[in-house]
Amino acid sequence: MYQTTAALRSAFLEYFRTNGHQVVDSSSLVPANDPTLLFTNAGMNQFKDVFLGADKRSYTRATSSQRCVRAGGKHNDLDNVGYTARHHTFFEMLGNFSFGDYFKEDAIKFAWTFLTEELKLPTERLCVTIYETDDEAFEIWNKKIGVAAENIIRIGDNKGAAYASDNFWQMGDTGPCGPCSEIFYDHGDHIWGGRPGTPEEDGDRFIEIWNIVFMQYNRQADGEMKPLPKPSVDTGMGIERIAAIMQGVHSNYEIDIFQALIKKTAEILGVTDLENKSLRVIADHIRSCAFLIADGVMPSNEGRGYVLRRIIRRAVRHGNKLGATESFFYKLVPTLIEVMGADAAKGLTETQAIVEKSLKAEEEQFARTLERGLGILDAALNELTTKVLDGETAFKLYDTYGFPVDLTADVCRERDITVDEAGFEAAMAEQRSRAQAAGQFETDYNEGLKIDEQSCFTGYTELNNQATVT
Ligand code: ATP
Ligand code: MG
Ligand code: MG
Ligand code: MG
Repeated sequence: MYQTTAALRSAFLEYFRTNGHQVVDSSSLVPANDPTLLFTNAGMNQFKDVFLGADKRSYTRATSSQRCVRAGGKHNDLDNVGYTARHHTFFEMLGNFSFGDYFKEDAIKFAWTFLTEELKLPTERLCVTIYETDDEAFEIWNKKIGVAAENIIRIGDNKGAAYASDNFWQMGDTGPCGPCSEIFYDHGDHIWGGRPGTPEEDGDRFIEIWNIVFMQYNRQADGEMKPLPKPSVDTGMGIERIAAIMQGVHSNYEIDIFQALIKKTAEILGVTDLENKSLRVIADHIRSCAFLIADGVMPSNEGRGYVLRRIIRRAVRHGNKLGATESFFYKLVPTLIEVMGADAAKGLTETQAIVEKSLKAEEEQFARTLERGLGILDAALNELTTKVLDGETAFKLYDTYGFPVDLTADVCRERDITVDEAGFEAAMAEQRSRAQAAGQFETDYNEGLKIDEQSCFTGYTELNNQATVT
């Protein structure tokens, strides 16, 4: 049942439609009128003003399959790609929403019924988390649904804890937020990892599949939590994670969509080992890059365009590692359109020509400096006597060879080396003051990185610990 990801998407929307939800199209990856957000990172984004009471809809229940990108800003999974079984830069979030209609009990019941009756997941594989003080959620899970107390795990907001689950969901530093309850699936003890709330939870054994957020507050810039006009519900389930379960595989990269992309990449590049990590990274990155361009983002030196450029260049570098001798990345677009299914690929189908052209142009441009830059980096790494690459070299690669600093960090990480972040910034500042002193028109090298400080300036210092997982 529901063997393809596309069939699963339809089943989800249909289930909630028959339960009184309006099916709403995915919104763009570029958030409309929301300067607080880099890219759409959750299904609730397009409903933010409805939760806040500033926008009214003709319905109080909605469901959607929302395309999301988490490659910058508050939720940034770029550095997890290739290292975990469950993170992508681009993914689809299935969700159901209540705008002051139903609350905790129905939200929990809908999710549980869909998983255990519609999809027929074995209940013994599931466990749930709740916010540490949420006794009401505990009672519902325990008494009404029948989940054993030991399978209901209380978790706080874990500020500062590196890998722990966080049961207080927020879209960004401000905006709608509230306590949440999450459902995890146990893929079996042959896989490393522990239950949520344990130090081993970041392994890929217990995989978080569904987050049910009880939207109750609007966080202000000064941290104050103002109650929302009406308690509401926002849920999100990554379609690739539930597809993996339904297709009987562990890693998201083993599902139909990724297998098609991995096979196509391997075919183009003549690679025989389908387990190669670079193939996964490329299969991931083509999705975010193609859909970002389809939604109007173009590679550039600043803001969203720079994030896109960084992802494309990372993919191109992985292609180079696999022996690519000519542009390959854009050739994956037709396969992507095919495997996503007509509904999810609609915007991409309409813009296919421009998407392919932009990807090809960016790849060709970067290819001109990539080999030489890699040569310089390799030489520098071979000469290292410590585990840290100096900021001067990282800056030279950035300035002369077009290597975004996270790309340099990505290469270094494969050799267990980090980049001297402070040194990189210092080299950049020095360049700027030299340009000023010479009275030249000043290029603001910070410009492109500013919007995404998390991944550019703190992410790569944490590479050895694996980047931030929330
Ligand atoms: P994780 O702890 O695994 O990083 P999360 O807690 O950050 O996930 P939420 O913000 O709660 O994720 O998003 C809701 C759901 O979206 C998750 O339960 C998961 O199924 C899915 N999801 C989140 N991030 C990703 C990602 N980078 N790639 C694929 N699916 C994701
Ligand atoms: Mg989580
Ligand atoms: Mg979560
Ligand atoms: Mg996360």
